[in-house]
Amino acid sequence: MTNFDLIVIGSGPAGRRAAIQAAKFRKKVLVVERGYRVGGVCVHTGTIPSKTLRETVLNLTGWRERGFYGRSYRVKQNIQPEDLKRRLSITLDHEVEILEHQFARNMVQRVTGTARFETPHRISVTLPDGKTESFTSDRIILAVGTVPHRPADVPFDGDLIVDPDEILDLKRLPRSLTVIGGGVIGIEYATIFSALDVKVTVLDPGAQLLGFIDQELVDEFLHDLRDRGITLRLKSNVAKVERVGGDSCVVYLEDGRQIRSEMVLFAAGRQGATDSLNLPAADLSSDKRGRLHVDPSTFQTSVAHIYAVGDIIGFPSLASTSMEQGRMAACHAFGEDIQAAPEFFPYGIYSVPEISTIGMTEEQLRDKKIPFETGVARFRETSRGHIMGLSSGFMKMVFSLENRRLLGVHIVGEGATELIHIGQAVLNLGGTLDYFVENTFNYPTLAEAYKIAALDAWNRFPKTQTNVALLRDAHTRLARA
Ligand SMILES: Cc1cc2nc3c(=O)[nH]c(=O)nc-3n(C[C@H](O)[C@H](O)[C@H](O)COP(=O)(O)OP(=O)(O)OC[C@H]3O[C@@H](n4cnc5c(N)ncnc54)[C@H](O)[C@@H]3O)c2cc1C
Repeated sequence: MTNFDLIVIGSGPAGRRAAIQAAKFRKKVLVVERGYRVGGVCVHTGTIPSKTLRETVLNLTGWRERGFYGRSYRVKQNIQPEDLKRRLSITLDHEVEILEHQFARNMVQRVTGTARFETPHRISVTLPDGKTESFTSDRIILAVGTVPHRPADVPFDGDLIVDPDEILDLKRLPRSLTVIGGGVIGIEYATIFSALDVKVTVLDPGAQLLGFIDQELVDEFLHDLRDRGITLRLKSNVAKVERVGGDSCVVYLEDGRQIRSEMVLFAAGRQGATDSLNLPAADLSSDKRGRLHVDPSTFQTSVAHIYAVGDIIGFPSLASTSMEQGRMAACHAFGEDIQAAPEFFPYGIYSVPEISTIGMTEEQLRDKKIPFETGVARFRETSRGHIMGLSSGFMKMVFSLENRRLLGVHIVGEGATELIHIGQAVLNLGGTLDYFVENTFNYPTLAEAYKIAALDAWNRFPKTQTNVALLRDAHTRLARA
């Protein structure tokens, strides 16, 4: 039996970052991964594949050029599933190669197989040939992620009725698609398929979609979706899903309505992948969604030498935050200082158009009774937006009325997930409205929207003497530009 300084279970973003961090401390690290290749959901079925599919669709359909050339413009006519999958496999191979090289360079050992606890310090791994091997360690990090929620009464067939993992292995391009679940994953796929001119219907039991995003932004986004012909059916509970013949499906709603489409994507939730871990052997247990509870500052579970990081601990369930959690857990496990993560991190939704947001929403500020003022900009107000032919794109910034500090940035439109980082830096460094008004931005850029939104907010701010002077200066500088 081999002993390690650290055993990491799972090679997704959380596990990989934990393993590499521990290896940098010159520790002997083992990563156990049950998948045939390293990378986790992030590389094989989640983040990277969905974003690659999105990019392929936007390129092949000529989506970004349609503002100029009209809705019927296409770079490639008659797009086939093979066209979509080709780029996917090249991208994934590249990602796996980078990871494998990273593990090799840092002398992280790997074993392919399914891990389960034998005791709180001993793991047994079932290898692909069915044999088992045991390993021990003083520290264990669980980074096992999640799997799609697949209710027993939904007749998944991997062809017409699919989950988000299966949709990547598309056998045919449907003419119509019903997406059950209007969460982030459901909305991303709904808008990607809509960009392919597939007729899309989204069903969700809630009264509002994307409730954690600033509602003005969501309204703007949903207006865009409806304008493109996406049907949104809220407060819709699904009673039954059925395949009818060789090429269509029916979703029956509890209120008696029926929705017919060629394909159904069931994207209503994910489940922690803790089933195979034999948690009781480590004195641990998961909640009813298979997730583990941890101390949020150290990522320790109730058993001090066992950590849990990434999607298995729930919100925010992002690749970006998972990596950071992995790094922090490894640091804590080996007695290194860890700083608490900054309060605000960006959230990106790679729908078409994309959404990104950081900090507080208008709704949160109202709830907390914090006085604020907003400023907005539309991308079509920027020269870069004109050049790109953008007809949509919206940025909203929220500032404190008490001390002028930036409290939140909310963006929907082209480049939102990149643009947000300017707001993130200012927000986490405690910057104010003045930063955006006084600084010069490259021209022509979409980032100029920050300046426009800030000036818009400034115009609405109560006019103290200082405000007036600064505003005058800013306008003079803009006029000279
Ligand atoms: C469709 C989709 C799109 C997404 N898009 C984004 C995005 O745009 N941006 C973003 O930041 N995040 C996105 N995410 C979320 C992101 O993929 C996850 O937050 C991230 O993958 C979580 O990383 P993780 O390391 O916790 O787990 P995972 O990436 O889920 O990796 C867990 C690994 O553990 C392995 N494992 C499980 N049990 C065992 C066991 N018993 N023994 C051995 N190995 C085991 C699994 O095989 C898997 O490889 C998306 C997710 C999905 C599904």
